Amino acid sequence: MSVSFAYFDHHATTPLCLEAREAWLRAHSEAWMNPSSLYPSAGRSRRLLEEAREECAELLGCEPARIVFTSGATEGNNAVLRWAASRGGRAVLSAVEHPAVREPAWQFFGDGGVCELPVDEKGVVLADVLRAELETPGTKPAVVSVMAANNETGVLQAWRETAARCAEHGVPYHCDAAQWIGKRPAAGLAECAWVTLSAHKFGGPKGVGVLIIPAGTFSPLRLRAGGPQESGHRAGTEDYPGVAAMAAALAARAGWAADEQARAKASAWRDAFESRLMKHLPGTQVVGSGALRSETVSMVIVPRHPQLKWVTRLGERGFCVSTGSACSSGKGNPSPVLQAMGIDAEAMGRALRFSAGPETVEADWEGLLEALLDVWEVLESGVRDRPKVDLSRL
Ligand code: PLP
Repeated sequence: MSVSFAYFDHHATTPLCLEAREAWLRAHSEAWMNPSSLYPSAGRSRRLLEEAREECAELLGCEPARIVFTSGATEGNNAVLRWAASRGGRAVLSAVEHPAVREPAWQFFGDGGVCELPVDEKGVVLADVLRAELETPGTKPAVVSVMAANNETGVLQAWRETAARCAEHGVPYHCDAAQWIGKRPAAGLAECAWVTLSAHKFGGPKGVGVLIIPAGTFSPLRLRAGGPQESGHRAGTEDYPGVAAMAAALAARAGWAADEQARAKASAWRDAFESRLMKHLPGTQVVGSGALRSETVSMVIVPRHPQLKWVTRLGERGFCVSTGSACSSGKGNPSPVLQAMGIDAEAMGRALRFSAGPETVEADWEGLLEALLDVWEVLESGVRDRPKVDLSRL
């Protein structure tokens, strides 16, 4: 078998892209001062921070005043749900939301305050149930939260329609777009009242993100107590270098996300991988098959052997893959996403997620297939396995 290294865990995090690295270094040498300081040399940091806000706003299709820089999607999601809970009522969210939405929803709205929208067996939210929730007289939701693209399966939700329907009913709609941005065009996202994203999912640095707030939010949100940064919305010294790097990554990835040919090529490689895997490993099942999915992700349920054995042995062969959500992988928790799709606990324990990035090439998918078949033989034969790669060099 070929001995190579291929990173198939872009849904967990991505490597910093060259543009982001350069922007970060430039910002640290030219504009490292505190943007809130009053002397003229710090004014440069302030000016550049506002320019980065304008650039992000343009790339995301909204006014700069709607952009609040955060530490990432977890913080943004928490902020939206805390804000919504302060208005009373209930939260309506899909049953396949990331824990960064589900956990704060249950925490802030409490038992009886959360309605989870079911999905079909492909992982798509049932539009009729959402409509019924919106139309129930006298119980207008405080917020509806349905993600754009699922972190485990890559299944895409009809967020444009959801945004339109929520707007019709005057209900604020929050879209967690952490797995959408950088993979698909951002056009239209700003139609949602609230949008959250994390830079490290699209080639930017970790610990930086954007929260798009509703247009005309003039009173400060005070997401944290402290200084009046971010127009009073979020306290804490602004991380201009991080923001500059995020803006650079956003611009760099916008090209890939809008390039239909590049996306078609990525999905052709992924689809060929899946059909060859199903042919060579009978019993393999593709999760979310038949639904619209991100072109770069494949979640499969492999036959017989538990996921951790596969992940470990693939890792020894230089292939970085995951069991699903990075935050719960390896912790033995059943996946609420797969559960909501009606997949039983035993099969869930055999789920593997392969998430590629713009730098992934066809040969990486072919190498992954080869490695999977090799692992399969080893697991079936029960032979003690030896690492195939010098792991110290990775
Ligand atoms: N939302 C989705 C859909 C995600 O995939 C993730 C991370 O995997 C998050 C939110 C949380 O992002 P972060 O850990 O960067 O805050």
